[in-house]
Formats: sequence, structure tokens, C-alpha cells
Amino acid sequence: MSGLRVLLLGGTAEARELAALLVDQGIDVTTSLAGAVRRPQLPVGAVRVGGFGGTAGLAAHLVDHAVDHVVDATHPFADTISANAAAAATEVGVPLTRLERPGWGTHRAADTWTWVDDVAGAVRAGAFARRPFVTTGRQSLAAFLPWANRAVLARVVDPPDLVIPDRWVVVRSRGPYDLESERRTLRVHSADLLVTKDSGGTHTVGKLDAATELGVPVVVVRRPPPVPGVRAVETVAEALAAVLA
Ligand code: NAP
Repeated sequence: MSGLRVLLLGGTAEARELAALLVDQGIDVTTSLAGAVRRPQLPVGAVRVGGFGGTAGLAAHLVDHAVDHVVDATHPFADTISANAAAAATEVGVPLTRLERPGWGTHRAADTWTWVDDVAGAVRAGAFARRPFVTTGRQSLAAFLPWANRAVLARVVDPPDLVIPDRWVVVRSRGPYDLESERRTLRVHSADLLVTKDSGGTHTVGKLDAATELGVPVVVVRRPPPVPGVRAVETVAEALAAVLA
């Protein structure tokens, strides 16, 4: 053990990769999960589950557990915990590194993509669609209820907590998804729209490549803005280097 204590805010594939590398380095790492997913994919190393109780609770946790470094490797759209991590780390003077994989905009954006600020914007931008494929996650599904009379195909990890309209099909699965299976999904559903968040990464990019190839329009929900003043890195290797430094 190096004596260094790291709190890793997780819930992403990158967080699991980083946990493995930190354990390899003999660093005392605890991954924190929100507890939002029924059967989470667990990282190596110690794990704690559940909210901290806002910024104050997280700040107290950092002190109580003598944390030396916080890595916020949560999902790009998990903006509440990222803001809380920044505030708590500043309050108690613990270094914080934000690990956020790049979005899909830079390398893959096509002219069949429409960018919107939030899911309400996606509902407006996709008003033309009759057979949309919605992949923005369980928590966002209620925002699509204005499409109750459309043949929505929604893909989620856990069961949604709303009454599903009769015309909708909800499939439960967890990525990664390859290009061929995403082509098949779009074709079998005869999808005329794909709705996605700009999650980035490789695990779920197949749907974008398949839609772009098949000429299916895509509506992409932009990421929330980064928390100002937080040191951010894009790769697991950079996050490891930041901790070791
Ligand atoms: P959020 O809106 O930013 O956070 C809501 C609350 O959940 C936070 O205030 C915090 O509760 C708790 N929380 C979130 N992440 C936590 C963590 N890693 N450890 C302990 N508590 C955590 O987050 P969300 O969008 O609901 O996402 C929840 C988790 O799922 C995140 O950890 C994220 O990495 C993962 N995830 C999210 C998405 C997405 O699209 N949003 C996709 C894939 C995975 P307290 O205030 O009580 O501390």
C-alpha cells in the first residue's frame, strides 16, 4: 500500500478501469456508486453504495475517511454529484480530478445530427418522428410522454418507473453494443429517429454509426457544462497520473 487514499466517484466503465489500475499500484481506493442501478457492474477494490447527503455529507466523508484525492469519474450527465464533489473538495482542501471521456461531437458529428440542450429539446426537435428509438435512459423517459401515440422503442438498463404507453416497446439491456446489432435494431424497428445523450466513449457509439450509415436522423442531447475551476482529464491514464502526482 502507498498510504494514499482515493475516493473514486464511479458508475462508468472508465471508473472501473481506473479502480483496477489504482489497486495494481497498491493505492487504497474506494469506489462510490449511487445505488441507482439494480445489479451494478462492480469494480475491483473497496466499494461503497448510496448518496453522501449533498455537499455537506460528502465533505464530512472526505474528512472522516482521511481521503487524499477525489477522482470524479461519474457519467458526463451526472452533474449534481460533480458539482457536489467540486464544492466538497474545495471546502475541505482535498485535490479533485475530473475524469470525463470526450463527447462524440468532435470526431463523429454528421449533418444528420441535431444538437439540443436537454430532453425537452429532443422532444421538440424530434416532432416529425413516428418510430423513434430513444436511448437517453430510464430517468428521462417521462419527458417523452408527449410521444405516447408514437411507436417508441426505448432502451433502458433498469425498469422505468412510469406507466408505459401501449404503443411503446421498452427493452432492457446493458451495452456495449456493436455496429451490426445496432443496425439490426434500427432496421427491425424501422426507426425514423435516434435520440441519444452525448455520452461519448466506445461502448454505445455503434448506434450513432449505424444511424448515420442508414441515414436515420439523430438528435443528440448536449452535455451539461463542466464545473468551472476543476482540473479535468479525458483518459484513465491521465487520471492515474494525476493521482500519482
Ligand atoms: P446525479 O444526478 O449527478 O446525482 C444525484 C445524486 O445521486 C447525488 O446528489 C448523490 O446523492 C448521488 N450520487 C450520484 N452519483 C454518486 C456516486 N457515484 N456515489 C454516491 N452518490 C452518488 O447522478 P445521476 O445522473 O442520477 O447518476 C447516478 C450515477 O449513475 C452516477 O454515479 C453516474 O456515474 C451513473 N450513471 C449516470 C448516467 C446518466 O445518464 N446520468 C449514465 C450512466 C451511469 P447525495 O447528494 O446524497 O450525495
